[in-house]
Amino acid sequence: MEEMTNPNEGNKKSLNFIEVIVEKDLAEGKNDGRIQTRFPPEPNGYLHIGHAKAICIDFGIAQKYGGVCNLRFDDTNPLKEDVEYVDSIMEDIRWLGYEWGNVYYASDYFQQLWDFAVELIKAGKAYIDEQSSEEIAKQKGTPTQAGTESPFRNRPIAENLALFEKMNRGEIPEGSMVLRAKIDMASSNMHFRDPIIYRVIMYPHHRTGSTWKAYPMYDFAHGESDYFEGVTHSICTLEFVVHRPLYDWFVDELKRLHPEDGAYRPNQYEFNRLNLTYTMMSKRKLLQLVQEKLVSGWDDPRMPTICGLRRRGYTPESIHSFIDKIGYTKFDGVIDVALLEHSIREDLNRKAKRVSAVLDPVKLIITNYPEGKTEMMEAVNNPEDEAMGSHQIAFTRELYIEKEDFLDDAPKAFFRMTPGREVRLKNAYIVNCTGCKKDPDGNIVEVYATYDPETRSGMPGSNRKVKGTIHWVSVQHSITAEVRLYDRLFKIENPGDEKDVDFRELLNPDSLKILTDCKVEAELQNVKPYDNFQFQRLGYFNVDPDSEPNRLVFNRTVPLKDSWTKIKENLQHATN
Ligand code: ATP
Ligand code: MG
Repeated sequence: MEEMTNPNEGNKKSLNFIEVIVEKDLAEGKNDGRIQTRFPPEPNGYLHIGHAKAICIDFGIAQKYGGVCNLRFDDTNPLKEDVEYVDSIMEDIRWLGYEWGNVYYASDYFQQLWDFAVELIKAGKAYIDEQSSEEIAKQKGTPTQAGTESPFRNRPIAENLALFEKMNRGEIPEGSMVLRAKIDMASSNMHFRDPIIYRVIMYPHHRTGSTWKAYPMYDFAHGESDYFEGVTHSICTLEFVVHRPLYDWFVDELKRLHPEDGAYRPNQYEFNRLNLTYTMMSKRKLLQLVQEKLVSGWDDPRMPTICGLRRRGYTPESIHSFIDKIGYTKFDGVIDVALLEHSIREDLNRKAKRVSAVLDPVKLIITNYPEGKTEMMEAVNNPEDEAMGSHQIAFTRELYIEKEDFLDDAPKAFFRMTPGREVRLKNAYIVNCTGCKKDPDGNIVEVYATYDPETRSGMPGSNRKVKGTIHWVSVQHSITAEVRLYDRLFKIENPGDEKDVDFRELLNPDSLKILTDCKVEAELQNVKPYDNFQFQRLGYFNVDPDSEPNRLVFNRTVPLKDSWTKIKENLQHATN
């Protein structure tokens, strides 16, 4: 779990099981030593952090072994797909730092796939079934009981060919005919029981318009697209393990038709998909959240989407380091979102400039400080990185501090501001609290203190020990900003497990809190959207693109407190 500082250290890390396979294939000279992968999203939604895991292995393997990774849009279902998604997918992959060799669309292979289906029909290995999908499903049997053969299974080849043509000409209503591969209704693998490979969809396709009415199913299109492109390692998630024999069956059929391709063959490998606590990765459900306006959009900072994480303040580096930490295995599980939060904290601890912001302000008046005087105090930008230098923060008689940093009647262990005790104002003076003013309801409206001029940070008198340090900004010099505080999108740890509950009822009603009267130091005047900062003592924040010149908006990426470190310690205690 240690941070990598030396770039060569990566080489010392042990290989994941996919890298082991690739190295073995290379050593054996498989596929002429060529490495080709693909990332195959269906353009029916925005990419999420789970896709980032797939992207890192697909592109990462190609990068590491001098191969190529192509981007292939698996656009075989015109009903759910859209160009909006195509654009966002490209943007997100680039943001993660990858570039594809080529962009392909499964729809570009519709003709080749059609031709292949025709070859299967001609070889007596596919037939047109006129039964409804319900009837077909009923005949599937169970894993322990063989299925029933369709009454159309032995239809003459010429008739199959003619009907297949008709399906594509729009002469066959949706749902009334399908093309099925003729394999084995008694196979122990349910996917071999005459899988449907083509169905009719009348809806126009976002790229091919109304040219096609018969569309290939995923299992048929996927391996074939891999083959047409020359993919060597087709990496996907574990739910496809049971599809692999079918993948291989289609590849065998293709190889029979293409002897000129020699020993070339694509192989499928599966790794564990990423599941994260307190969120969901189903594109269908994420789409529902967006459509029903339960979040502000695909890039709502509470969403597990890549654009949501980006807007929240996550960096590409933090996502890479998270994915490095979780690794690739063959066992499904759920990762604690605290580990993701730990990764961004670790990255921003190194990179983010420290500034002062007061989220819930109350005025502090330094009664013995001259009115009208301003002193510029030096504030170190990042104690982790001297090269980041420092900036100036204005100190004046009237300041803002956090309401919760003052207590009128404080317990002994309260090391912040309370009458009769001293506290340091970060980068400035030690002050002694003298009291406060309350409104008729007992709310604190002003806090008073005196300062000791000898204790300015950096001066000899500054060594005096005080137990607490608090942050502040100058009333006169600070800027008002909006700050959005986020919490988990779902109330429960594994919302995906609750099959009997409407997932919308599991949403955390307190996942967004908007503070509109925050005060930030003047240094933040010229920030740009997505800039990251540490607000001292509070957490990491970034500039939201909703910001306008006179209305800054910040998102809290994560608070400072690292729950992952705690979890890790507890785990260690438990195992020791
Ligand atoms: P849907 O939610 O619509 O079923 P999907 O999650 O399968 O879609 P695709 O667009 O088909 O999304 O996924 C593209 C690639 O990303 C696939 O190879 C898929 O295995 C991988 N992928 C999707 N979700 C995850 C995940 N949670 N963890 C790792 N890889 C994932
Ligand atoms: Mg999919």
